[in-house]
Amino acid sequence: MRAVYIQAQGGPEVLTFGQRPDPKPGDGEVLVRIRACALNRLDLWNRQGLRGTKREFKEPLVLGTDIAGDVAQVGEGVTSLSPGQRILLDPVLSCGRCWPCLSGEDQLCERRGMLGSTVDGGYAELVKAPAVNALPLPDHVGYAEAAALPTTFMPVWQMLVRKGQLKPWETVLVLSASSGIGTAAIQVAKGGVGARVIATTSTPEKAQQARALGADEVILYSTENLETRLKELTGGRGVDMVVDHVGAQFWPQAYASLARGGRYGVCGVTTGYRSELHLGQLFSKQLTVFGVSMGSRADLRQVLAATARGAVRAHISQTFPLEEARQAHEVMEGRSFFGKLVLLVS
Ligand code: ZN
Repeated sequence: MRAVYIQAQGGPEVLTFGQRPDPKPGDGEVLVRIRACALNRLDLWNRQGLRGTKREFKEPLVLGTDIAGDVAQVGEGVTSLSPGQRILLDPVLSCGRCWPCLSGEDQLCERRGMLGSTVDGGYAELVKAPAVNALPLPDHVGYAEAAALPTTFMPVWQMLVRKGQLKPWETVLVLSASSGIGTAAIQVAKGGVGARVIATTSTPEKAQQARALGADEVILYSTENLETRLKELTGGRGVDMVVDHVGAQFWPQAYASLARGGRYGVCGVTTGYRSELHLGQLFSKQLTVFGVSMGSRADLRQVLAATARGAVRAHISQTFPLEEARQAHEVMEGRSFFGKLVLLVS
């Protein structure tokens, strides 16, 4: 099969376009003919060996976590799927037997793995995966649109809907609207929940795009003071939830802007790991600070159902053919895009 793989970690030049052996589905697995694979920042870390992804290479690794395609072949014992079926793969590999898995928290699985990270992923024509990870695609949800969902919408759904319990009458602050997580959070908060959304971004063009996606208010953090503007926009009350995937840079102002009973969710730290926590405010305002990483298979099913109904929609910035994965990585590193970058395989 044609594939883009790495044999060492480093810059975009380590991405090699060439041939790899076709994977063979084992018991309980499916072979998927890939149509679309979305890029994530995780792909850059896997390529660079950053943030806990450093690895020794015995075999080349095919990157790519978020995969949509058609079932090409089913392994022994698979009765729930048949060849030709359109599917989206849940990238989180879980054992289905440990305590977290049995509690429906499979993103906490003790033997957790990830497509495109611990095993071969979607920068290829074919991939194998456990059949339980294959979710049937609703007819009118396209491959690229589906592939753009898992790694951004699963943490956002877990954060806003399942853990944060965001309500339609509440206000949520989405930090840095232009990323995959930012665009997903605006969609889920607005289209999924019906809450009021305040987003932050860096340029007037991105502000316009954030509004088009559903943000009620946009703060330009390059020219405006975040804390002051949030006070004005909420009549001094503050926001009920914060979606933070950028880390240290905005923490002091965003945390200080939480209303009583506010929840602060973190699912990324691109601007830094460490922040100071005001414990007095934490208990006196009865705040909750929590982290999420990916989400459960049930979260992804709910995201897919919400997408099928048109309540949420992945925002695709640009598509590339498989052989241009390297260029796609360079665009992602440049940070001048708005939404998701997707490889179209066939
Ligand atoms: Zn498990």
